[in-house]
Amino acid sequence: MASTLAYLLLGSNLGDRAARLAQARHDLAATAGCLVAASDLYQTAAWGLEDQPAFLNQVLAIETELDAPSLLAACLAAEQQQGRERQVRWAARTLDVDILLFGNAVIHTTTLTVPHPALPARRFALTPLAEVAPQVVHPQLHRTIAQLLAACPDMLAVARVAS
Ligand code: ATP
Ligand code: CA
Ligand code: CA
Repeated sequence: MASTLAYLLLGSNLGDRAARLAQARHDLAATAGCLVAASDLYQTAAWGLEDQPAFLNQVLAIETELDAPSLLAACLAAEQQQGRERQVRWAARTLDVDILLFGNAVIHTTTLTVPHPALPARRFALTPLAEVAPQVVHPQLHRTIAQLLAACPDMLAVARVAS
């Protein structure tokens, strides 16, 4: 089966956040495919529900032989490994793994929307994605990630964390 280059966004704002991202990289490399690039870590104030600890975010590029639903299942399993609980939308979480891009695929199902619909509106997603994939073209907006970042209206500060 042909492989696909997918971009995932990891996020954590509970516990040892950097350790959680490291564990997620390890788990996803075992279940989802070959980890071909990883951005630096970025700290961002929480988005949506703002009264909670800051997030650490990282983008991974994964060359995967999975189809998109199977990749989503691997992402959700990585969250479960770290005790993710879903109560309130956008609440604090040990680990969040979102699929930002899955090759050039455009997917709209009840459980999966790709590209991630909030990507153009979130500096915390565009900044690490632009580090590893600045020239990748968004398959619906037909703009590069670097262009989307330059046009992003989100003003929440995204700070690179020394790694
Ligand atoms: P947001 O999607 O706004 O970042 P969230 O990450 O907090 O919010 P979750 O509770 O983690 O939302 O996810 C809820 C559901 O979203 C998942 O179970 C999954 O079925 C669905 N979903 C749809 N599109 C995607 C995607 N591109 N990546 C990950 N999950 C997705
Ligand atoms: Ca998310
Ligand atoms: Ca999610």
